[in-house]
Amino acid sequence: MIKKMCLAIVACVMWSAALGADDQSRPNILFIFTDDHCQQALSAYDPTRITTPNMDRIAREGMKFTRCYVTNSICGPSRAVIQTGKYSHLNGFLRNGNVFNGDQQTFPKLLRAAGYQTAIIGKWHLGSTPQGYDYYDVLKGQGPYYNPPMITAGPDGEPVTRPHTGYTTDIITDKALDWLKTGRDQERPFMLMCQHKAPHRNWMPGPKYLNWLDDVEIPEPATLRDDYSGRTRAAREQQMTIRYHLNDRDLKLSGHGNMNADQIKLFDAAYGPKNEAFLQARANMTEEEIFRWKYQRYVKDYLRCVKSVDDGIGALLDYLDESGLADNTVVIYSSDQGWYLGEHGWFDKRWMYEESLKTPLLVRWPGHIHPGTTHDAIVSNVDFAETFLELAGVPVPGDMQGRSLVPLLGGDTPPDWRKTFYYHYYENPGAHNVARHYGVTDGRYKLIRFYALQGQPLDDWELYDLQRDPNELRSVYGQPEYAAVQQRMMQELERLRTELQVPEDTDLGRPRRSGSRR
Ligand code: CA
Repeated sequence: MIKKMCLAIVACVMWSAALGADDQSRPNILFIFTDDHCQQALSAYDPTRITTPNMDRIAREGMKFTRCYVTNSICGPSRAVIQTGKYSHLNGFLRNGNVFNGDQQTFPKLLRAAGYQTAIIGKWHLGSTPQGYDYYDVLKGQGPYYNPPMITAGPDGEPVTRPHTGYTTDIITDKALDWLKTGRDQERPFMLMCQHKAPHRNWMPGPKYLNWLDDVEIPEPATLRDDYSGRTRAAREQQMTIRYHLNDRDLKLSGHGNMNADQIKLFDAAYGPKNEAFLQARANMTEEEIFRWKYQRYVKDYLRCVKSVDDGIGALLDYLDESGLADNTVVIYSSDQGWYLGEHGWFDKRWMYEESLKTPLLVRWPGHIHPGTTHDAIVSNVDFAETFLELAGVPVPGDMQGRSLVPLLGGDTPPDWRKTFYYHYYENPGAHNVARHYGVTDGRYKLIRFYALQGQPLDDWELYDLQRDPNELRSVYGQPEYAAVQQRMMQELERLRTELQVPEDTDLGRPRRSGSRR
């Protein structure tokens, strides 16, 4: 008893010391975030398509997580999960088009209450006005790649929209730098979220990279020509193939987005000749050749967008060095989900399959993370809120559903760390027609249940053995040799659904009216 009391007193003293210590001892948090950036386009994970030296620098000087899974692989919902540390069914933001209830508990509010200065710059995409931030300057909706209108608090505190001229990625980087240099209160620790629109569709490169990669051929992924014969119906019903579903604006064959006359001139000087060469040759090209051309155009534009983000990260890291902030600033790089760079023939995300389930996660924290460490534990965007709170020494509320990653940053995995992970996607009917599904994975096996398509119930199950079939081409659901695995995964799925308080799937979504536009 006495021993326990002593321990409690020691803990209290340490706690008040942490709070009372000058704010220099609490680390700053710089969260750099992108939209739709996959591990396949980040050279610290996969050097075959692009070099991202500045992202790689975070990995080299910090830690790379190989299994960061998202709970719901789609833009708005992922952001809501990060704000709240809760799954979509509890934070109320299930699909794009929902409006985030900003009155609920979020980690920026808790950090702010604990004395942190909080700011968000760039893509917000949650519909409502950001709450819990000392400063916000965010894109309106998705935001265009050029000349974005951005919303910030006006003199009376009400949101005002301001026009900007330039490439959106560079503008967001510059605004983040400006805030670090002159906007923040130097006496308090900060938490800055620098969130890019790139490399979201429709992949419009910045002026610097319009001709970059022109003379290079990007390798095709092994599953580019997947015929979906090894799985259930859902994959055949989707509308996200490079072959059939990219439009002329995606392929830069038409449209200039939000560009001004000078930007159009520069863009046309780069893309005009490339397009002309293709359009002239097209009449004599086979369908397969046109497909290959589409793949190259699509992937290169995506990589060009990533390159500008990487440049921006370099500028931020350089400033942290110059200003002396680097030593006491935790730098996190991540994206709202992964993405298909042609795997299974696709662009876009949404599926519980590996490429969109995984997202990049790099963390640098000098003196705390051993440089160049790789961590393979199952972590998630649902863990970010609790991680930031622990970094700041703020108690974690009991209703959050993730777990702080701070213990993992030392390189170890706590013995009771999660061994399995629950996923749930809701946006159907919706863009790209990916069926509603949920599932569980332990990193080796993955069990998925597709339960609704176009408002109609489905009960289609898939089971993958990632060790034997890393590309997830052949579901082994129902095969006798996997009976025990299947049963175990079924039980684990139910256990997680109960633990995470997932409601029964009574809402299957209203079917689209026939003939409605996709
Ligand atoms: Ca996204």
